[in-house]
This record gives sequence, structure tokens and C-alpha cells, in this order.
Amino acid sequence: MKILTANDAHLLAEMLRSSTHAVFFGGAGVSTESGIPDFRGTGGLYSDNSEDNAYYLSNACLRNEPEKFYEFYKRSMLYPNARPNDAHKALAELEEMGIIKAVLTQNIDGLHSEAGSKNVIELHGSCAKHYCMRCGKAFPKEEVTSSAGVPRCDACTGLIRPKVTLYGEALDERELERADRHTNTADLMIAAGSSLTVYPAAAFVKYFTGRLVIINYTETDCDASAELLYRDSVSKVLSEAVKILKM
Ligand code: ZN
Repeated sequence: MKILTANDAHLLAEMLRSSTHAVFFGGAGVSTESGIPDFRGTGGLYSDNSEDNAYYLSNACLRNEPEKFYEFYKRSMLYPNARPNDAHKALAELEEMGIIKAVLTQNIDGLHSEAGSKNVIELHGSCAKHYCMRCGKAFPKEEVTSSAGVPRCDACTGLIRPKVTLYGEALDERELERADRHTNTADLMIAAGSSLTVYPAAAFVKYFTGRLVIINYTETDCDASAELLYRDSVSKVLSEAVKILKM
């Protein structure tokens, strides 16, 4: 398999142009250029004391020790200064051009929506969304970042929680179904910034029967099935492809 770089973005552009239903599947590598670390990578959140970290991000911790949960969540999960990078922006443009029909992501940073993508499937939820566990009232991220200690609902004093899948919780069925529908309809999938080893990423990409493009700095479990294999920055490859499509 030929290893490609952003200089070969015209190949991706051609494939996007001839596709009828393209979807994007992204992992942590899409957001690292926005300054959000890959939690599973070297030095990441899950690489040391991972047992403790898993507890702090669990449903049990949120319910039993909300102060500990929020202390950790605010310090390690919220990145108030992170902004969408060129990968997020290119995907929003590709959707506006009618080429990308859906963005599936494992990330919880909410940056695809912030960049302007409309059809985003957030498999693990989003730190940009919070709600009251008692009455369901929605709260923006700022409400949580600016609160001291445990954020409480101003309507009913219930505990506010992030709309993300915590340890001990199942993935959102509706999001999984939406992802399924899109991957079954798609004739082209770009899988990027993920080693494609963790469920459900692995399943969505492994069982995909259309044309597959992979953009990742390191090897993935699905490299052999890829028609195009890029070992380069996700933002560089995508923004170059957009540039060519706009010519
Ligand atoms: Zn409430």
C-alpha cells in the first residue's frame, strides 16, 4: 500500500467529488491540533493512574462524590480555550458543499459543531452540553466552567451533569443508530485520527463496505482495507482537499 501525504490530497479530492454519500469518522487525533491531548496516548489521561481516572469519570463518582467528579472534570476534561482547527473547518465546508453527509466522532469536545458542522454524531456525547439530572434543564458549558464546586440547577437545585457517556454507562442508542444508518448508506468513509482499535470505532470502520480512506500518523487495524492511506496531519490533508475541490 502506498503511503500518502497532504501533497497527494488531489486523490482524496477526486474520490470526494465522485462520491454520493461521504461520511467522516474521527478520533482524538482530529482535536490534538486544537490543544486537546489524546487521552489514550502517551502522557494522556488514561496512561497513568488510569484506574483512578476511570473512577473520577464514572457514574458512581458523579452520584456519590460529585465534588471529586467536578474537581477532576473541570481540570482535565474541559478545555475552555480550545478552538476548532483546520480539520474541523474543512469538514464543515465539505458538508456545506453537499459532499460530507455526517461527521461521526469519538471526541467529546464539541468542536465540530462549533466549526459549523450540522450533522454531527457524537458517539460519546459532548462536554459542550450539560443538563439537570432532576428536571432536565439544559446548561451551556460556560455555566459549569464558571461555577464554584458542584454546579446546581437554578430551577430545582438538582445536580447538573455533562451530556457525555461516563464509565459505567452505555453509549447513547440513538446516536449509535444514526451512525449505523449513515455508515450503511455511505459509499465513502474517511476515518481519521484514530488507531481504530476501540469499540465502536473499530466496528463502524471494519464492517464498512464502501470505499475507505484512512488519515492517521500511525498504523491502524484497518489499513489493509483502505483505498487511500495518508500518514499526515488530518487538518493538512483535509484542508488541501477542500482547496482543490474549490478550484
Ligand atoms: Zn433542575
